[in-house]
Amino acid sequence: MNIILLGPPGAGKGTQAKILVEERGMIQLSTGDMLREAKESDTEMGRRVAEVMARGELVTDEIVIGLIEEKLTGDNGGGLIFDGFPRTLAQADALGELLEKKGAALDAVIEMRVDDEALVARVSGRFTCGNCGAVYHDETRPTKVAGVCDVCGSHDLKRRADDNAESLKQRLMEYYKKTSPLLGYYYCKGNLTGVDGLSDIPVVAAQVKEVLDNL
Ligand code: ADP
Ligand code: ADP
Ligand code: ZN
Repeated sequence: MNIILLGPPGAGKGTQAKILVEERGMIQLSTGDMLREAKESDTEMGRRVAEVMARGELVTDEIVIGLIEEKLTGDNGGGLIFDGFPRTLAQADALGELLEKKGAALDAVIEMRVDDEALVARVSGRFTCGNCGAVYHDETRPTKVAGVCDVCGSHDLKRRADDNAESLKQRLMEYYKKTSPLLGYYYCKGNLTGVDGLSDIPVVAAQVKEVLDNL
């Protein structure tokens, strides 16, 4: 089963993807994570990506489609979760072609609905584990022991450079301009479903589960 989690920055895509990985053995493909990794590399591409991400703009379709294409080779286990991809119509078309070439289908596109006000609070309280990628929040999902990852025990907890109010504003504009047209695109294809992303994490997870169980 292959699905897309679609929603604005801070909607809870990564959080729900990790629950699906844990519960269903699916594979999370986060272009944001891949790009942050590329950013660390001391290359011209890494430097360019870092600048674009810091401004809250979208990286070129060519780069992200290339990153996804690399991951689509071989066996995809319990299914793929596309998290933060596609973000433009060109990326959506490219994904359709890549899956078709593999003989694979896109089973569901889940829109995570959250209003802008909540997104500011989500993003400004977000921190992640640098070792295992677990996602936390100062208020809604703190670690059990301050400064220590619940999952792997690492002390390497960090905040993203682009999780500030100014960058979020730009990222939201990019979302409305370039990504939200995908809602119509997938609605027409008949595989769009929405969940209420404002509910608590386990409640959202139950809604996602219901969508997948009904496929
Ligand atoms: P969030 O979790 O806040 O939605 P991501 O981690 O998915 O953010 O993405 C962070 C940044 O990486 C984006 O603001 C953008 O610059 C870049 N990025 C991630 N995915 C894509 C994509 N599919 N196309 C273009 N740029 C992307
Ligand atoms: P995205 O991948 O869509 O950018 P994340 O999964 O990283 O979103 O979540 C953004 C922030 O909001 C994180 O700090 C996360 O712990 C928190 N969060 C995620 N889902 C919820 C929820 N349903 N209720 C409250 N906080 C949430
Ligand atoms: Zn960890």
